[in-house]
Amino acid sequence: MKCPVCNKPADVKETRTRQDGAKYRRYLCFNNHRFSTREVVVKAKEKALAQRPVQEPVYHLRQFGDVTKEQLDRYIATGDINPQPSPVKPN
Ligand SMILES: [Zn+2]
Repeated sequence: MKCPVCNKPADVKETRTRQDGAKYRRYLCFNNHRFSTREVVVKAKEKALAQRPVQEPVYHLRQFGDVTKEQLDRYIATGDINPQPSPVKPN
């Protein structure tokens, strides 16, 4: 950790862990600036990542770039491709 005041390296002088899992660290830098940091486990982000929809495999065609399996099948069957598949409309 570098000092936010003078940007010199700072040493951890004290670490405290709260019951909610947050860690507080007190630092002292080479120029005797004191500052603290708080470290928290980011649960919300992990949850958001877990809820991300599974992405379809993407294939690459020289003419069209990245395409979906559906587009690839269409290209193989018809020699044509729909580069912008119409979004599925909710009922
Ligand atoms: Zn400093």
